[in-house]
Amino acid sequence: MRRLAVLGAGYVGLTTATCLAELGNIVVCIDIDPSKIKALRQGRLPFFEPGLLEMVLSNQHAERLTFSDAPKEALHGAQMIFIAVGTPLLENGQIDLRSVHAAARDIALSLDGPVIVVNKSTVPVQTADVVAAVIDEAKASKHKVTIVANPEFLREGSAIADFMHPDRIVIGVEDERAEAELRDLYAPLEAPIIVTDPRTAEMIKLTANAFLATKVSFINEIANICEQVGADVKEVVLGAGSDKRIGVAFMNAGLGFGGSCFPKDVLALRQIAEASHVEPRMLRAALETNTAQIDGVMARLNELLEGVKGKRIALFGLSFKPNTDDVRESPALALAQRLVAQGATVTVHDPVAIAKAKAVLRDSVRYASAHYEATRDADALVIATDWNEYKQLDFAVLRKLMAGRVIFDARNIYEPSKVVAEGFVYCGIGRAAPFHAQPEAQVDGTSIRRTMP
Ligand code: NAD
Repeated sequence: MRRLAVLGAGYVGLTTATCLAELGNIVVCIDIDPSKIKALRQGRLPFFEPGLLEMVLSNQHAERLTFSDAPKEALHGAQMIFIAVGTPLLENGQIDLRSVHAAARDIALSLDGPVIVVNKSTVPVQTADVVAAVIDEAKASKHKVTIVANPEFLREGSAIADFMHPDRIVIGVEDERAEAELRDLYAPLEAPIIVTDPRTAEMIKLTANAFLATKVSFINEIANICEQVGADVKEVVLGAGSDKRIGVAFMNAGLGFGGSCFPKDVLALRQIAEASHVEPRMLRAALETNTAQIDGVMARLNELLEGVKGKRIALFGLSFKPNTDDVRESPALALAQRLVAQGATVTVHDPVAIAKAKAVLRDSVRYASAHYEATRDADALVIATDWNEYKQLDFAVLRKLMAGRVIFDARNIYEPSKVVAEGFVYCGIGRAAPFHAQPEAQVDGTSIRRTMP
């Protein structure tokens, strides 16, 4: 049985600590935020992640998982220490590595034997070298420290399944013994293991996120073309994506990418490219397209509602994607802010992200505890995050509650014809919506204008 420590009790750190405990290791999960540790000790999660609480509680009960807010003491005796601290963006677009450096210093000051330091935080290339240097400089003992870059690919909302059944595990390591230890640790997961050097491992993570983000921007650009030429992007994806070389995964046109990873990691890679005198044309385009996507949605909403100013808008979904309460860089939140800035009265709903959204939106919007409640007297309903509970709306209830008849489905979760048949004006992203086909048609008193050229 190994003794492991995980620094950071966020989405990645807590999932890593809990899953490693579930695999039979003795794990201490450490965070410098005492409120998080207090919540965990009391059996509460500091954030929403499906299935994680049950696993935390059962491993606490089995005495394999403990929590601490005192890194230096808690790190004693650990054979492997995982760094899973936050690496947000600085104002200048570079990744803020202060938490990684602090973690490295805590490790250096707590050394009481040889240790393998495994970095799971997403970091610029060469950070493993920096961590080694920080530890070397701060350590008081001669114990051997081996640094491993082991990027994490889990997704919020399916974090446990992703950790337990990864497509691959990437281990950037130059020490054979550490490689063997890591292989042994992950053996129960029965996943393909890719062993490389630390710099390449760091580059793999940034490449994966930059590619996925680019895919989102690509299909959003295609969606914008579809809208203008009267094609349906969902069918375009199906047709083009059925080619095995292309695939349909991650080809959902919508509001654009968000979250704590994609925007930050693409920006970080762009910075790295620029610093290395490589012109990052693709990365720049992916970022620009993403920003422009919300502009496009605002333009269409303004057109549909003949100006959003003074209009009441119900906005469904605030988290950056379903099954998480994470609102960092959420396009749904950005859309709410843009609507408010242009004079709309916005009532929002989200199944779990209201508390985190309130910290950003404060009293600029109204908050509804039930989704139908948000639509009362609304001129338009905007579906901004594709939570399952928005996928089977009762249109009769909406007809009763809403003042207007516009549904803007910014996640393409409905078939346009179904919504139109219910008496609503439907607008999706890149859909050949039926309201395009009938210029000047009337549905339930609402004028539907042709938006095709
Ligand atoms: P998070 O903000 O949810 O959690 C980070 C935690 O680290 C916080 O609780 C913070 O208090 C703690 N912390 C900061 N400094 C510390 C220190 N010196 N010692 C101990 N704890 C410290 O972040 P996250 O979403 O879990 O992401 C962590 C890292 O993993 C980031 O680099 C991120 O890019 C990467 N990542 C995130 C995801 C994801 O889906 N969230 C997926 C893959 C990789």
